[in-house]
Amino acid sequence: MTKLQDMSRSQLRQREEALVQSHAALRGRNRTIDMTRGKPSAAQLDLSNGLFNMVTEADYLGADDEDYRNYGVQSGIPEAKTFFAECLDVPAESIFIGGNSSLQLMYDALARALLFGVPGGDGPWREASFICPVPGYDRHFTVCETLGIKMISVDLLDDGPDMDAVEALVANDPAIKGIWCVPKYSNPNGIVYLSDVTRRLAAMTTAAPDFRIIWDNAYAFHHFEGELAQIDNILDVAAQTGNPDRPLMFASTSKVTFPGAGIAVIAASDANMADIVAHTAVATIGHDKLNQLRHERFFGNRRGLHEHMAKHADLLRPKFAAVNDALEKSFAGKGLAQWNAPKGGYFVTVDLPDGCAMETIRLAAEAGLKLTPAGCCHPYGRDPQDRTLRLAPTYPTQREVEQAMDIFCVSAELVSVRKLLSEH
Ligand code: PLP
Repeated sequence: MTKLQDMSRSQLRQREEALVQSHAALRGRNRTIDMTRGKPSAAQLDLSNGLFNMVTEADYLGADDEDYRNYGVQSGIPEAKTFFAECLDVPAESIFIGGNSSLQLMYDALARALLFGVPGGDGPWREASFICPVPGYDRHFTVCETLGIKMISVDLLDDGPDMDAVEALVANDPAIKGIWCVPKYSNPNGIVYLSDVTRRLAAMTTAAPDFRIIWDNAYAFHHFEGELAQIDNILDVAAQTGNPDRPLMFASTSKVTFPGAGIAVIAASDANMADIVAHTAVATIGHDKLNQLRHERFFGNRRGLHEHMAKHADLLRPKFAAVNDALEKSFAGKGLAQWNAPKGGYFVTVDLPDGCAMETIRLAAEAGLKLTPAGCCHPYGRDPQDRTLRLAPTYPTQREVEQAMDIFCVSAELVSVRKLLSEH
């Protein structure tokens, strides 16, 4: 196959004409497909409908006869702590169970740090900066932007953040208070942190004594290809390297059961746990214990959780395969696009030639495909090269994913061809 870069001007013109016709035909079909957010599909949500029957009028007491309809048990019910402790491989005492959203727990953790400081620090964080591996999760960046935390971009490589860059930054600047990490099936490019990266993060010398690793293990159980990826336990590694208070581990059942009605957890050191419990107890007398009980009864144990995730995997595998097949078919050997083929998580990223992302999104929208705005994977919503796109194939139906990829591939190639023509 001739690479687009090697085509003559007239060959490029011909290709442009063919793509314009394909785009017009797709536009004429008047579709609307939403591939913006990583939401589970209705079929995935159906897998968890059994939750509704787990707590009944006759059966709402805890193991120790505690009435879970009432106030109290502020840091989470013991049954659910034991369950998450097994699943996340941490002691039950290190678990705090919150409401339904881990993002809210992360937001609150940073807001608290700005107001009150954190254990090991000397008061509220001021003029704080955060390291943001890029590409990253847009809502992490919005949390920083909203709270006035300055963001410093560092490349996310195939095995985790560029640690040479991270170490150099944190060693000298006490205003750098933390780093965002999505260590498994990272949002958006699906990479998994290798042990060496985890160890360097835990052990590195930081000018800030109260530096925090926000270890957002949102996709801890979410694989659809091969074995579930294993990452090192950041709490253990940090304790071994003498920095037990550095990591805050977050997870939730948003993409395990119901994103609107799941449960979210933090795992952390004793000092961090005491701080979290003391502060959150001011804000709430207790979270939804009946929902915690429902979840614990529904899964039973780690094995139950993994069996459940295998059902999600069966629904997701063909969708991710459709994305990869379409990208292979349209772009392999053309020297045009680079993309990842993740084995878990919720997203695929595609890097186009510089300057092509925004225009691809516009053309895709014209043909009925809504994509996440360009720049979403970068701090402040600005992709300096305007080249990275995030695809979220979980929510649309299989047929819609296939149709969406037709639109995406034609739009992306058309924009890239026009870019090359403009440079010829
Ligand atoms: N963290 C990451 C990396 C995510 O991708 C998402 C959702 O897409 C969340 C957190 C949100 O989690 P929750 O629903 O528990 O707030």
